[in-house]
Amino acid sequence: MIEREVIPVEPVYADDVAPFFKEKGVKEECECCGKKDWIIINNLFGIATLMCDDDLTAGFTPTIIVQCTNCGNMRLFNRAHLNLEKDKKL
Ligand SMILES: [Zn+2]
Repeated sequence: MIEREVIPVEPVYADDVAPFFKEKGVKEECECCGKKDWIIINNLFGIATLMCDDDLTAGFTPTIIVQCTNCGNMRLFNRAHLNLEKDKKL
């Protein structure tokens, strides 16, 4: 039987993730250019994964991309790990 996972597709905004980032000590400064201006990219909902342990398995990781507006550096976060309020109702 194939397990099905609900994929969160509601857009994420800065106010949604700011408390989590603050709690976890995520640095505001871009590690590439030192600026503090970020946007959240909301048109990518996840990354396909192909795991090779004992067996080969395919999956999907819900993803949030935060991109530096100055240099384009992108940070990827596992959306499931952020435990967003808007995802709890799924
Ligand atoms: Zn940057």
